[in-house]
Amino acid sequence: MFSIPQTPGVYILVFYLAKATSITFDRKGTRHTFPKGWYLYAGSACGPGGLHERLARHQRRISEGKNMHWNVDYFREHALLCELWYCETDDCRFEHHWAQTVADLMGATIPIPKFGASDCKVHCPSHFIHLPARPSTAVFRSQLSSRGLSTTVSVEFIAEPRGKRPTPGLQCEYLLGRRFLEHRNLAIRDNDLEPSKWTSLAERRPARLLAETVAKEMKVSFPKLKEAIKFATAVETLIENCGESAWSALFDPKRPQTRKAILSLSRTSDVRQRHRINGVIEGKFPSVAPHSDDMVFDTTSFAEVCKRLARARGSLGKLLVHLKTIHDSMIVEEVRLLSRLCRWSVDLLDECLTKRGTPSPALPDELSKESVLARVRSKAVRGRAVGKGRGALRLIVKNVWDFEEMMRRGLEPIAEQLQVTRSEIERIREIASQIERP
Ligand SMILES: [Zn+2]
Repeated sequence: MFSIPQTPGVYILVFYLAKATSITFDRKGTRHTFPKGWYLYAGSACGPGGLHERLARHQRRISEGKNMHWNVDYFREHALLCELWYCETDDCRFEHHWAQTVADLMGATIPIPKFGASDCKVHCPSHFIHLPARPSTAVFRSQLSSRGLSTTVSVEFIAEPRGKRPTPGLQCEYLLGRRFLEHRNLAIRDNDLEPSKWTSLAERRPARLLAETVAKEMKVSFPKLKEAIKFATAVETLIENCGESAWSALFDPKRPQTRKAILSLSRTSDVRQRHRINGVIEGKFPSVAPHSDDMVFDTTSFAEVCKRLARARGSLGKLLVHLKTIHDSMIVEEVRLLSRLCRWSVDLLDECLTKRGTPSPALPDELSKESVLARVRSKAVRGRAVGKGRGALRLIVKNVWDFEEMMRRGLEPIAEQLQVTRSEIERIREIASQIERP
């Protein structure tokens, strides 16, 4: 569907070996048994014909008239060449950066030291590595980015392993969606259309036409591909924000995750994403699904402050009506305490808004994350009214907790939001003082 440019560049060949195979891999007849799995070979094409010629050569076999030249040519005879990753560049030193980046991927091992790296002037352990599972370009890009290298990687799909599927369910769905995402990267590269024009999958849009081609190629229906694209986008967002650890948290067979949990985590803030991903890896919790007990920064725009305050005000309003029917003094006392904490929180939020840009006011112990969490979890006093009060407190105090980080990230309120926030603060104060009135 796309053509490989004739310009110079660096590349990676992605091979799949279906079973352990003994292969003679050089002219001297040296043999080695390669375990089954995935193999990545990094090289560069800086001569005439560039990437186009070199990658066409790597795809051929002896039977197609190829002269054996490199070690990888011998390996290619036995393995399935699945994907080509490449990047156009005049700087062929990138070949070594790419080789070192893949050698550092999780689970990577070196089957034969210095394979493809005999000419390296820099220290490369090998240009050929083994991976137990199919490599992800998203992980590779995130590793390039953490090394300060360009993350432009074009991907061409050559062949898919047949027979028993080498990848389990969710990973399979990711791979399907990823196929579209990689094709879309190439389409954006080769067309003058703005990248934003490639997001909508509505009928007759460019992305839709591309998706229909991919669906046909992969023999799946368009709705199925659409779901896979949604899922793959979520996975790539998580890898982009959390790095390689996201991959192992999402796809470790020992800690299976659900599709729903992955999708919902991808819609939260990067801080919460890292909190859940690391927690799963460290064994603190089994699922990556966001949980209301994650007391982490989770605000993506100031509009959320307005929404949280409106919800809290609604809860307190219902609580006020309900309070008249309650005669249990323990509950009444708890509700009034919660109301005072709500009022204290809006006072602090008010101060935050006034002092914007300077450090937020100090948080009293009663409103720290630990004590609020302990209070809302406490089972000593229960009931609908207490639940409403706790919900409101959480919604209000969260704005104070997140305020400083919001300002640091430039999530400033626009004039209208500021006005709404101030008026919600006033209304909450008013309702709270009615709740506290004996
Ligand atoms: Zn090298």
